[in-house]
Amino acid sequence: MSAETKYGPSVTTNTVEFPYRRSLGPVVGGFVAALARGQITGVRSTGVRGGGRVLCPPLEYDPDTGAATDGELVDVGPEGTVRSWTWVAAPDARHPLDRPFAFALIQLDGADTAMVHAVDAGGEDALRAGLRVTARFRAQPKGRTDDLAYFVPEGTETTDPDVVDAAAAAAGAAAAGVSTEPVQTMEFWSSLTYKEAVSPATARYARSMLAGTLLGQKCPTCAKVFVPPRDFCSIDGIRLDEGHDLALPDRGVITNFTIVTPVPYPGQKETEPFVRVSVLLDDVEALMGLQPVVDIPNEEVRVGMRVEAVWLPESERNAEEFGNRGWGSTTGAISGWRATGEPDLPVERYIDRVF
Ligand SMILES: [Zn+2]
Repeated sequence: MSAETKYGPSVTTNTVEFPYRRSLGPVVGGFVAALARGQITGVRSTGVRGGGRVLCPPLEYDPDTGAATDGELVDVGPEGTVRSWTWVAAPDARHPLDRPFAFALIQLDGADTAMVHAVDAGGEDALRAGLRVTARFRAQPKGRTDDLAYFVPEGTETTDPDVVDAAAAAAGAAAAGVSTEPVQTMEFWSSLTYKEAVSPATARYARSMLAGTLLGQKCPTCAKVFVPPRDFCSIDGIRLDEGHDLALPDRGVITNFTIVTPVPYPGQKETEPFVRVSVLLDDVEALMGLQPVVDIPNEEVRVGMRVEAVWLPESERNAEEFGNRGWGSTTGAISGWRATGEPDLPVERYIDRVF
C-alpha cells in the first residue's frame, strides 16, 4: 500500500505472474535457432503472387493466401532498411530497452516484408524512413526470439556489453557448440502489475492492524460481526459505515483446520506440510479463516483448541497484504495463532460449522 487517506493507506500494488511454455513449430523454431547463431532468416511464400516472396519474420502460412509456405528458411540481413518508425521517449519495464528507442518496421536485406523491432539510435533525430540499420544479438543467447536484441544505425559502435554484431554472434555460437536444431519450446514469464484503490473499510482495517487491534463491523439488523469491516451486510443487503466498526478480541477457538501439503510451483515458498486454521473469536460470532499457527505441530492442531494471536513487533508490521481481496488476511501484522494452554472447548459445539 502507498499514499494516505484520512483512514490510512489508500492504494495497493498487485503483481500477478506465472510462467508458461509454448511450442514454436518447425518454422519459428528454426528462426529462433538461427538467431542464437547471429543469423536472421525468412521463408519463401508459395502464394498467388507467384510465390517466391521472402517473408521475415518467417511464417508457416502465406498471410495473403493462407497457403503453406515451403518451410525452408533462407538467410536475410543482418542489415536492413527502416520503413517507418515511432519514438519511445520514456520506456518502462515492458519495453525491450531501458533507454529511449524507436519501434521500427525494418525490411531486412533479402526480405520482401518488414518486421517490427527496436532501434537503438541514440536520439529521435537519427531516425528516418530509409535509415540503414544492422542487427545486434545477445552475447549470451538463450534460444529465445529476443536473442535478436535490437538494431542500430549502420556504422554505430556499440558500447552495450550484452550484445554483439552478427559476425561475433556466429563466432561465439560456433565456439560454444550452439545447436543448429530448431528450438522446440520457449519459456515465457508473464507478469502483470496493477494498482487498486483500497476501500475505506479495508483502509480502516489495515490501520487498525498496524496499531495492533483486530477490527470488525457489527450489523445492527442481524447482529452478525464481519471481520474485516466491509461497509455492508451481505445478509441484509444494507450499508454499514465506520460507526459500526468494532474492536475485536485477539483470542478464540479453532473451529476447523486444513493441513496443506505444498506442491512445488513458481512462487511457492513452503516446502513442508503446514496448517491453516479457522479461529472463532471470543465474545463475538466473528471468524478468521485460513490463519497460520505458531509453535503448534501439525499433528497437535485440533478443533476446540484455544488460541491467541501473536502480533509482530510494531516496527515490523506492514500493510502490503491488506488489499480489497484479502478479506481476513492478517499477514504483516500477526505472525500466527498459538495455543493458550487453556482446556479445549467441546468439539460438539463446532461440529456443524463449515469454517
Ligand atoms: Zn445484517
